[in-house]
Formats: sequence, structure tokens, C-alpha cells
Amino acid sequence: MALTSFDLKARDGRARTGVITTPRGEIRTPAFMPVGTAATVKGMLPESVRATGADILLGNTYHLMLRPGAERVARLGGLHKFMNWDRPILTDSGGFQVMSLSELRKLTEKGVTFRSHVDGSKHELTPERSMEIQKLLGSDIVMAFDECPALPADRKRLTDSMRLSMRWAQRSRDAFGDRPGHMLFGIQQGGLEEDLRAESAEALKNIGFDGYAIGGLAVGEGQEAMFGCLDFAPGQLPEDKPRYLMGVGKPEDIVGAVKRGIDMMDCVLPSRSGRTGQAWTPRGQVNLKNARHADDPRPLDENCTCPACTSYSRAYLHHVYRSGEMIAGMLLTWHNLHYYQQLMQGMRDAIEAGTFVAFEADFQATRALGDIERL
Ligand SMILES: [Zn+2]
Repeated sequence: MALTSFDLKARDGRARTGVITTPRGEIRTPAFMPVGTAATVKGMLPESVRATGADILLGNTYHLMLRPGAERVARLGGLHKFMNWDRPILTDSGGFQVMSLSELRKLTEKGVTFRSHVDGSKHELTPERSMEIQKLLGSDIVMAFDECPALPADRKRLTDSMRLSMRWAQRSRDAFGDRPGHMLFGIQQGGLEEDLRAESAEALKNIGFDGYAIGGLAVGEGQEAMFGCLDFAPGQLPEDKPRYLMGVGKPEDIVGAVKRGIDMMDCVLPSRSGRTGQAWTPRGQVNLKNARHADDPRPLDENCTCPACTSYSRAYLHHVYRSGEMIAGMLLTWHNLHYYQQLMQGMRDAIEAGTFVAFEADFQATRALGDIERL
């Protein structure tokens, strides 16, 4: 019997719910993956992340290869042991962050050479090295190494880049080899162009992967353009494998993506915004920095069961944020991750019940109310 699998339980329109099974645990889909960039979800203990309902974390190959180094993590027992998270971990390939963070990049058919944004040291990342690093880390879901052009890009640039990524996808597949219990995902590219996305999907299907990501979106094209692409891109990928939309997003982006057939997503937004005094609730975004909260004894969200909402007032959250206290980021990150996981659970339940249309209408109507009236 295979050690990993993806089983669809229900469909509602194009939305799907199911379970990815790995030796380290099950991932309920649609799934939201909190981002643990440097082997930590900033401000959260792993058991707290789990308590919000997360089944899987995302780790960043680019950051971990530079500091503390993949070989060191391997010597210390692998990423799960190193960061004290024993459930599934997905690692990205490093390709996207090399392009967005590093300096003095040089891109060739072989791969990318670059200087570290940490200390200026010189590194090379190729499909083969990316597979090696992700193996050293012990990642459960490994991403193929790809190149992602910033949008807008002209058609020639998009085409050349996509075809290079498909050659790298084959090299990633070859280098990954046969690793029972671990999954390798290919990444579809092609910008917003339907025919390029179709060509990319065909190339990936011919190589054969355990799951398929949609890359190159959420890079500044806007929600309307992204949804336009998601109206066709998921349908170009195999029906019976997980589909992962990389780097998305805001709650409304997530609901729209699930509606269009996406099974997995990741984003730094809930944790990053928690550290900048921003909270997400069913009624939209709340800025705890705002002076209107200074005398407000009410919880951030009276229906939320997270520690920030059950034990503290808006006035307290406002105070600790304005005072630069660490607990501000900790509580707001916990709340935001809790809200995101509640949103995913709500969507999984609605898909199973066949009520996703009503769920989405309620989601939008509640957001339209805006935050509670000021006191
Ligand atoms: Zn809360």
C-alpha cells in the first residue's frame, strides 16, 4: 500500500474537500499552511500552531539553506525534530525567494547563482541541489525547483521562463527519485495566459507528480486577474491530485480560490499582520493600533475561542501593541491563525454539506457589516 495518498470526500461546484495522507499525519483539505520561514512560525509555539487547527506547516528552503544550513539541520535530526513539529511539513524549492530576496543573481539553464541577503556569501541553487536540500530537511511535501517571473511580463519572457521551469521540473523529478512516504509536487507556470498554462500542465502531467501547484500568481496581478486565471488553471491539472495555490492570501482570496477548485494554500499574512497590530475577523480587518480601542473592554471577536479573544480586551491588545510588548504579536498571530483555520473548517464542512454557495454568501455579508460599532 502506498504511504501517501489523496482522497476526495466531497465536491460542491468546483470546490472539493478531502484528505492527504502522509506517514506524519493527515492533512484535511482545503488546507491553509502557516508559514514557518526560519524553522518557526514567528511568535508561536508549535503546539499553539497545532491548537489553531493547522495540519501542516510550510518551511522555506532559501532561508534554511542560508541559515542554519540544510546539512546542519540534517545532522541535528531533520527539520521536524529541530523545530519540534512532528506533523507534515511542505518546503518550497527556494526558486521564488532567490528571485525576490537575493542579490547579484545569475540565471542559466543549470540553475541560479546568487549572493545571500544575510551575509553576502555565494551560493548555487539548481533542481538537483534543491531536491538535496529538501531531502536533508526531511520535508514531507517537496516542491519542484522553478523560476517565477514577476508580473507583468511580456509573452516571450513568460514562455521562455515556463519552458525552463518545465525542464527543471523533469530534472527535479529525476533527482527526487523514489522516496516512499514523501511527495513531490510540480509547479504550473505561464502567467495569466491560458494556452501557456495548458502547455505547462501537459508537461507536468507527462512527467507525473504527487500533486500540482499553481505558481506565479499572487505576485501583484490583483484579485480579479488571479481569479480570472483560477477560472481555468485548476481544471487543466489532474482531478485526482492535490492542487496547491502558492502564496495566497487574504481571507477573500482564499474563499475565491477554494470555490475554483484549490485544495491547499499558504501565506505569511495572518502571522505577519499579527505582528503589525492587524487582526482578521469574520467582519473584516481590525487595526488594533487605532485609538478607538484604547477604552474598549470588549473582545476582538466575541465568537472567537482563541486566547486573545477569550481572555483579553481590545483595550489590552491596543495597549500591549502600542507599548511594543511581545505578547501583542503573539496574541494577534494566534488569533489570526485561529481565524484562518476556522475559515478552512467552515469551508470543508460547507463543501461536505453541499452548502458552499450559502457559505460564501454569508462570508461576504458578514464582512460587509464591517467591524463592530465603536463604543
Ligand atoms: Zn480570537
